[in-house]
Amino acid sequence: MNAWNKYTARINHNCGGPGNVKDIDHWRNNLFAGTIIYLLPFCLIALVPGIYFCLITGQYILALVDILTVVSILMVAFMPGINLGVRKIIFFSFLTVLSCTLLIYLGLPGPGLLYLLAGCTFSLLIFPIKYTYWPAWVITCICIFFAAGIFLDLIPWPQRNLQSTPEWIAVSSNLIFLSFLLAALVPRLFNGLQETLDKENQLKEALRKQQGSLEQALHLVQQKNDELEQFAYVASHDLQEPLRMVTSFMGMLKNRYGDQLDEKAHTYINFAVDGGKRMQIMISDLLELSRIGRSDTLKELTSLDDIIKEVEQDLFKLIDETHASIIINTRLPQLSVYRGDMSRLIQNLLSNAIKFRKKEIDPVILLSCTEQKDMWLICVEDNGIGIEKDKFDKIFEIFGRLHSQNTYPGSGIGLAVCKKIVERHGGNIRVDSQEGNGSTFCFTIEK
Ligand code: ADP
Repeated sequence: MNAWNKYTARINHNCGGPGNVKDIDHWRNNLFAGTIIYLLPFCLIALVPGIYFCLITGQYILALVDILTVVSILMVAFMPGINLGVRKIIFFSFLTVLSCTLLIYLGLPGPGLLYLLAGCTFSLLIFPIKYTYWPAWVITCICIFFAAGIFLDLIPWPQRNLQSTPEWIAVSSNLIFLSFLLAALVPRLFNGLQETLDKENQLKEALRKQQGSLEQALHLVQQKNDELEQFAYVASHDLQEPLRMVTSFMGMLKNRYGDQLDEKAHTYINFAVDGGKRMQIMISDLLELSRIGRSDTLKELTSLDDIIKEVEQDLFKLIDETHASIIINTRLPQLSVYRGDMSRLIQNLLSNAIKFRKKEIDPVILLSCTEQKDMWLICVEDNGIGIEKDKFDKIFEIFGRLHSQNTYPGSGIGLAVCKKIVERHGGNIRVDSQEGNGSTFCFTIEK
């Protein structure tokens, strides 16, 4: 700690007082400590030459009072074990004594009146509001005392500064007027500050309470979410078995007793088997959705290029049959991701881009990756059938489908899976599209 820091820490400790930042008295004490901190070095400007010239001009009493004032400020600043209120009173008293001495020895044109007003202003700032008018009354008493002193010729005015009582009253009444004016105005400032502080504290308290209940609610939502995910996982896992039984027994029924059944019964069995298969796909997709985030796998640094190549291999048959072309015209980065999840996400988006193609043209898919401040933005743009604007939200919901099974088969879970994966990577996913004019799915991934 350097010397200035030590100096300010000491004075803050002695004069700053204990305090609660929420209370205006804390700021008053702070101001007092600040006054003393700066007064000491600054008073050298006035007092050192003052003392020097007093000594060479033979004004020894004035020099003595100057020295005593500096000593008193040093005492206020550094002497341990003095109560803060007493420190303030010592400070105010010495300033007043100095002002009076200056008045007596230098007369009206000297700095005496100025120091009296400064003392009054400092007191207003550092003493509690209930003492607001005290300094003004002290000044009034001093002025009356001087008026009487001049009248009775008790004050040893220097010859060159002789003042008459009326002259003194004319000048000192201005000082009294200013002191009372300040006493009336300064507390308004402090009251305003106190009100602002109180309001701020109330707001902070309300905010703290709200934050508490918000955290509680969030915890509850998280808990319910976990329970729901657990339920979806167990339900979809356990539903698979009876469903498998239904479809396999339907198959056995058809094989064993097929020749004894009429055409209608065959149609019914086919419907039941079809429904069972569809339900099986839905259940396994649901299971996949609820599995996201449940495994203990860690994120790994993976090349997006590698992931896309893998997905292209998996979709080779579909790409070949539909003459789809996948164009990548940006440099693909390394991403820190859950590898399995990321390939599922890209696969879902690419397979949708091919599945929802226009019948009359070959699908062309444009894949791009852009670097943002903390994110990577990855977009998959197709020239397919597009999506109506008011359905943008619906398609990310579970089972949110826009077409019948006959036109475009599917379970309606693919995009819900994508959304969950993207959110697990700290990003978000959105779509931009016009019906009949292709769609662009964009998602962000935390870097
Ligand atoms: P699924 O593909 O099994 O229907 P998804 O959750 O993947 O389920 O998609 C939900 C719906 O969003 C789809 O049924 C389709 O209507 C719409 N959709 C998804 N991708 C596209 C796309 N690339 N072009 C047009 N529509 C799309």
